[in-house]
Amino acid sequence: MNAALPSATHAPHRPDLVTSLGAMPSVRGRLEQDAPLGAQSWFGVGGPAELLLRPADAEDLSGFLAALPPELPVTTLGKASNLIIRDGGLPGVVIRLARGFSTIAQEMDGIVCGAACLDMTVAEHAAAAGLRGLEFLAGIPGSIGGAVAMNAGAYGAEITDVLDWAEIVTRNGQFLRLPVEALGFGYRRSSLPEGAVVVRARLRGEPCDPSLPRARIAEIKAAREASQPVRARTGGSTFRNPGVEQSALKAWQLIDAAGCRGLRRGGAQVSEKHCNFLLNTGNATAAEIEGLGDEVRLRVLSQSGVELAWEIKRIGVPAARIAP
Ligand SMILES: Cc1cc2nc3c(=O)[nH]c(=O)nc-3n(C[C@H](O)[C@H](O)[C@H](O)COP(=O)(O)OP(=O)(O)OC[C@H]3O[C@@H](n4cnc5c(N)ncnc54)[C@H](O)[C@@H]3O)c2cc1C
Repeated sequence: MNAALPSATHAPHRPDLVTSLGAMPSVRGRLEQDAPLGAQSWFGVGGPAELLLRPADAEDLSGFLAALPPELPVTTLGKASNLIIRDGGLPGVVIRLARGFSTIAQEMDGIVCGAACLDMTVAEHAAAAGLRGLEFLAGIPGSIGGAVAMNAGAYGAEITDVLDWAEIVTRNGQFLRLPVEALGFGYRRSSLPEGAVVVRARLRGEPCDPSLPRARIAEIKAAREASQPVRARTGGSTFRNPGVEQSALKAWQLIDAAGCRGLRRGGAQVSEKHCNFLLNTGNATAAEIEGLGDEVRLRVLSQSGVELAWEIKRIGVPAARIAP
């Protein structure tokens, strides 16, 4: 189904693009060519999306994906709080969920929420409704879709502990409701089918007096403020803690021991406050941030013999522009 140009067309046709806007299935939502992404990512860096789709709702998304040629790459972004988007941007179609995926419905023992809802909003909504168990989400600055994809967690709890089901739209446009067991959760990962988009989820909460989760959320916020650069342009924990068979030390301790606290490359810096966080101090490029992370890995390897693994995902192409 190659329909006419959708109405929300802004950028002129660029013949060098791999994916031409005119060849795209029609949508009710917004489809934009060569759309900037950097300013919307937590690090504040990164090149454009070749095509950016903001579907109107799950049905719109499903129709679009069903008609999209299967060879075209599709990347879903949440709040981009766990990503370095490289300077050359993202080829193919980038999907961002917005208004049509932001509903929150309260049930007796849980919350059903759209994937674009902020984790913080869901935690506060659950607390106000007198449901506990979702407070850990209050400190995680992503969306529910990203939380499911990453099995986000903090303070001893993670998504797999509270998720009943997630609804997804597969790369070929099929709707599925998957129970938690089908999502193959591990540490900060899930086994979502390749190209699938999480559109809604049900999270369990235990009925209680609202003052309890409210107090816990206040504690979590205070603990975060004290220990992490939460107001900086960052991407959260950069590296996973190594397994005990590799080192008894946490990633930040290894980074500190290798002398990397405060280390700089261009506008990128290892946080002085929490040295497993990388910062964009103002005008860093994605290449500087990623390069600094790789330098930290090398220094830790030579100082302690431990090979740190990236927890932050690096996506897209490194060049200044998507090549024709
Ligand atoms: C200051 C700070 C503190 C942080 N603290 C924590 C923490 O305590 N615990 C923790 O777990 N994380 C933490 N993070 C990392 C990050 O917030 C989480 O990983 C979060 O779950 C990512 O959600 P997002 O919406 O930003 O996803 P993105 O960063 O946009 O994407 C992350 C991955 O999820 C995929 N994805 C996103 N949305 C969808 C969707 N709807 N369907 C399918 N795939 C999708 C993306 O393709 C990508 O692979 C922190 C980050 C920052 C900046």
